[in-house]
Amino acid sequence: MASLHDDLRAGVRSLCARFDNAYWRASDEARAYPHEFVDALTEAGYLACLIPEEYGGMGLGIREASVILEEINRSGANSAACHAQMYTMGTVLRHGSEEQKRRYLPGIACGELRLQAFAVTEPDAGSDTTRIRTFAARQGRRYVVTGQKVFISRVRQSDLMILLARTTPLDEVEKRTGGLSVFIVDLRDAGDAVRVKPIDTMINHESCEVFFDGVEVPAGNRIGDEGRGFRYIMSGMNAERILLASESVGDGLYFVDRASEYARSRRVFDRPIGANQGVQFPIADAYMDVRAAAAVRDQAARDFDAGETRGDGPNMAKYLASRAAWKAANAAMDAFGGWGMAAEYGIERKFREARLYLIAPVANNLVLSHVATHVLGMPRSF
Ligand SMILES: Cc1cc2nc3c(=O)[nH]c(=O)nc-3n(C[C@H](O)[C@H](O)[C@H](O)COP(=O)(O)OP(=O)(O)OC[C@H]3O[C@@H](n4cnc5c(N)ncnc54)[C@H](O)[C@@H]3O)c2cc1C
Repeated sequence: MASLHDDLRAGVRSLCARFDNAYWRASDEARAYPHEFVDALTEAGYLACLIPEEYGGMGLGIREASVILEEINRSGANSAACHAQMYTMGTVLRHGSEEQKRRYLPGIACGELRLQAFAVTEPDAGSDTTRIRTFAARQGRRYVVTGQKVFISRVRQSDLMILLARTTPLDEVEKRTGGLSVFIVDLRDAGDAVRVKPIDTMINHESCEVFFDGVEVPAGNRIGDEGRGFRYIMSGMNAERILLASESVGDGLYFVDRASEYARSRRVFDRPIGANQGVQFPIADAYMDVRAAAAVRDQAARDFDAGETRGDGPNMAKYLASRAAWKAANAAMDAFGGWGMAAEYGIERKFREARLYLIAPVANNLVLSHVATHVLGMPRSF
C-alpha cells in the first residue's frame, strides 16, 4: 500500500508542478474556473479514483482519494475546483442502482460528464438540514422540483447535480430526518427551470444560489428509496469530511513548507529569522497539529473504507485538520511579515482559501455538538 500511495503522491505532485503560483494567482484574480487544471486531473484519471474499474475508474478507496487531495493542496493548488466529483460519487456508488451506475459512471470516469454539484444547503435551513424546503412532488413517472438552494458550488461547471429534497412535508413525518430523498438532476435537460445566480465570495470558489422552478426529474433518477435520502446523503458527507480534512492537511503542510523555507532564507538582524524561537516555535507547533490531524484523518479513512458508517471519525478529522491548517496559515502569515500580504507570494490566497474549512462543509460548532452528544453522550442543546 505504501508504494501505491507513494506513486500517487509523486504523480499528483508532477501534474501540479505544471500549475504554479502564477496560474492560481491569475485564476483567483479573474475569478476564473481553473478548467485546464481540472481537465488535466480528469485526463490523468485522478478524479475517477473512487469509481470501480468495471466502470472505467481507478477502483481505489477514500484513503487514496485523501492522498490525492492532500497533495493537490500541498502544492499550492486548490482542490475545491473539483473535489465534489469524488465525494458525490459515493452516493451513487453506495446507494445508486446498477442501471444508474452504468448510465453515469463511465462518462464521469472518462471526463465526458461532470458531477461536481452537491445541493443541500438552503437559506432558511442553514446547518439544520432537516428543515430544507425544496420539494420534489411525485407526478406519475417523474418528480417536479420547486425550491431554492444556496452556496451550491460548481453548478455552472457541472452536467449533473446530486440534490437533496423533501418528498414528504416535515409536519407529516415521524422523524425529522425522514421524508427526504436524493436525486441525480441532469442539468443539461433542465433548461430555464433551473436558474443560477453566482455569489461573490472572498475566494475563487464558484458558489451559486440555485432556483428550481418546476424542474422535471424522472423517477428513475431518484437514488435509493423515497424518504431515506438523509441516510444516503450522510454517508456521502462522511466521505466529504474525510476528503476536505485531507485538503486542510495539504494546506497545513503547504504553509509549514513555505514558512520554514522562508524562515531559513530571510535574513534580518544579520541572521535568518528562523533562528529566532518566536518565529520557529509557531511553525513547529502548527506542524505537529497538522501531523496529528493527518493521523486522525488516516484512521477515519481506513474505517470508512472498511465500511464504518458513523460520522465520529470524519467529523473529528475535519475539525482538527481545519484548525491545524488555520494555525499554520497564521504562522506563515507572521513568518512572511509584510510579504505574507503580497498577492505575488501566494500566502494570502491560500490563507483565504484555508479559512473556508472552519465553517464548511459543516461548521465546526456543529462538529463540537456532534462529539459532545453522539460520542460523549451529553444532552442535546437543540
Ligand atoms: C464557499 C462555500 C461553498 C459551499 N459549497 C456548498 C455546496 O457545494 N453545497 C452545499 O450544499 N453547501 C455548500 N456550502 C454551504 C455550507 O455547507 C454552509 O455554509 C455551512 O454548512 C454552514 O451553514 P450556514 O452558512 O447556513 O450557517 P448557519 O447554519 O446559519 O450557522 C451560522 C453560524 O452559527 C453557528 N451555529 C448554528 N447553529 C448552532 C448551534 N446549534 N450551536 C452552535 N453554533 C451554531 C454555526 O457554527 C455558524 O458559525 C458552501 C459554503 C461556502 C461558504
